[in-house]
Amino acid sequence: MTGAKLQLPVRKEITMRFETKAIHCGRGVDASTGAVSMPLHTSTTFERGANGSFPSGFEYTRDGNPTRNAFEAAMATLEGGEDGIAFASGMAAIAAVFESHPSAGRIVLPDDMYFGIRSLIEETDIGSRFDFAPVDMRDLDALRAAVTSKRTGLVWVETPSNPMIRVVDIAAICAIAHEADALAVVDNTWATPVLQLPLEIGADAVMHSATKYIGGHSDLMAGVVIVPNASPLGRPLRMVQKHKGSVAAPFDCWLALRGLQTLPVRMRAHCEGAQKVAEALASHPRVEKVLFPGLQTDPGHDLATRQMSHFGAMLSFIVEGGADAAMAVAGRLKIVVRATSLGGTHSLIEHRASVEGAKSKAPGGLLRISVGLEHPQDIVDDLMQALGETCKAGVQ
Ligand SMILES: *Cc1c(COP(=O)(O)O)cnc(C)c1O
Repeated sequence: MTGAKLQLPVRKEITMRFETKAIHCGRGVDASTGAVSMPLHTSTTFERGANGSFPSGFEYTRDGNPTRNAFEAAMATLEGGEDGIAFASGMAAIAAVFESHPSAGRIVLPDDMYFGIRSLIEETDIGSRFDFAPVDMRDLDALRAAVTSKRTGLVWVETPSNPMIRVVDIAAICAIAHEADALAVVDNTWATPVLQLPLEIGADAVMHSATKYIGGHSDLMAGVVIVPNASPLGRPLRMVQKHKGSVAAPFDCWLALRGLQTLPVRMRAHCEGAQKVAEALASHPRVEKVLFPGLQTDPGHDLATRQMSHFGAMLSFIVEGGADAAMAVAGRLKIVVRATSLGGTHSLIEHRASVEGAKSKAPGGLLRISVGLEHPQDIVDDLMQALGETCKAGVQ
């Protein structure tokens, strides 16, 4: 038993747009108290009836918790899926997907992707249990060759990618996976359901690090996988969650539910700011290249225009002069914070090559920015002063 689905109020019957769903779905006004905010349920255990039944539908919090169930239901609705399964972190969610896919065949994944997956493969037993094949998924022929040359169970998709901000064609990749009887799962952490809905265009599941935009304030850690109706991943994921026990904590789910309510407005503001920052950086003489699909010159621009509702708020840029020059630029910033992670209100900058270590494929001069919710002009001004006083070009 995974705990009862929460009873939704009458609003369930009403057609809602995304912004409204982000506030109302998965939870309603608390029937017993009238509380508008979803209560935080920290109880680990729930009373049985005199006859041995579980009248509330809840038994033990690892199996099901009212606050976690509400977060899972809200995420399922927003991604257009049937069920959500919430984990203690994005990495726990990813490991659960790898362990849950029905055939133990090859897992094809992007050659540019969240670095933690590479560490999961190299430093835990996950690496020896599957045959991982990295491929540049912008090249659909290369992808087709990778999934057909050996029995493939899963294609892992990340778009836009980290740290090269590549955009890949979700629908085309899912079609190629399905031709080979493989499942396609999309890491939608960077785009969020505000910018793209992978389940609508063929994905078999969507995964999030809710630590990022879903929470939105750099103060929680959780992961979640959303599956459509009758997914072969649904039950195995629930069993990994329940029996391996890497469940999302109630407080983190409560914070994530709070974050979800402002996700659509935050994403629009994040993306607007990122566009301004990208344009300013692109006109700076010490910047060799800006990687951001919102720029018309970016190789991912046309695809992103079709696939996404906005271009995202993650961008990378390459500073002239390599690693030392890039580190020096980051070192001069006064507002943008030098820290890993993304998706919060604070703009964050990171020198990926030094964070990732010797095996990093990130260019030495590359800095990655998560554009936060400060005034975009303040972020631009801070970057311009860090790049050098002499270069005022591009500042609006
Ligand atoms: C952060 C992140 C993860 C991992 O999530 P955690 O919550 O840190 O475990 C996975 N994928 C992407 C794209 C991320 O940004």
